[in-house]
Order: sequence, then structure tokens, then C-alpha cells
Amino acid sequence: MNYPEHIAVGLVLGIAILFFFNSLNLFSVVFVGLCSILPDIDHPKSKVSQLLYFLVFALSFIFIEPIIQKYFAFSISIVLNLLFSATIIILWLAVKPRHRGVTHSLLFAVAFAILAFYFYGLGICIAGLASYLSHIVLDKF
Ligand SMILES: [Zn+2]
Repeated sequence: MNYPEHIAVGLVLGIAILFFFNSLNLFSVVFVGLCSILPDIDHPKSKVSQLLYFLVFALSFIFIEPIIQKYFAFSISIVLNLLFSATIIILWLAVKPRHRGVTHSLLFAVAFAILAFYFYGLGICIAGLASYLSHIVLDKF
């Protein structure tokens, strides 16, 4: 299935869940849309892998930066975050999982959902997980 179809199904599912949890806003919709194509990050020509570097830096600044800032000054935390992001990208390129491997697994989806729950709460977590899982299910057809 192509990425527009993954995004369409993921958004329909995710927005319904976000509406149910009263968590519907621009950020949550973008997050849910991203979750619908995130499993294909293991495919070198997928849209999401073409955004890999940007995504790593963006996710690092969203998830890791607040933690680093608790212990270091802002300027040092930016440098540490850039080093962390570069390390993640180098490790990813070194490991390079096969297509439809670990990123298309339930384990990876649950790990991602735990992170989303920690940072964004239950509504966005469940909507993101549903969107992510819709991708895995749709890839079976
Ligand atoms: Zn896929």
C-alpha cells in the first residue's frame, strides 16, 4: 500500500480516537499522520525515511531535550542533543533493519506507544498506536 493510503486510513482512525479522548488539535493530527507512515522508516525510498534526519533531530528535541535541560545549560543541552541525534543516525545506518522487519512488529509499536504515552498522554498514545498498527495491518494486503 502507498503512503497516501496509509496516511488516509491512519488519520481517519486516529482522528476518531483523538475526538473521543478530546485530544484533537493540530499537533496530535500531525503526530497521528506521522505514526501511519513511521513503520516504513526501514525502506530506503519511503517518504518517511527520506525525512529520517529531520525526524531524528525533531524527535530528539521533542523527547530528549527536556530531559537534558534538567541537568545542563541551554547551550550545552543543544550541543548534547545534536551529538545524541547524530549518534542515533549513525547507529541506524550501521544496523539498517530489513524492510518490514522490526519496525513492522507489535513490539516496536508498543515501545513507540509507551514513549508517546509518557510524553503526550493516553489519548494521543492510543490514536498514534492505532494509526501505527493500521499501517502494519494494511501491509498484509
Ligand atoms: Zn510498511
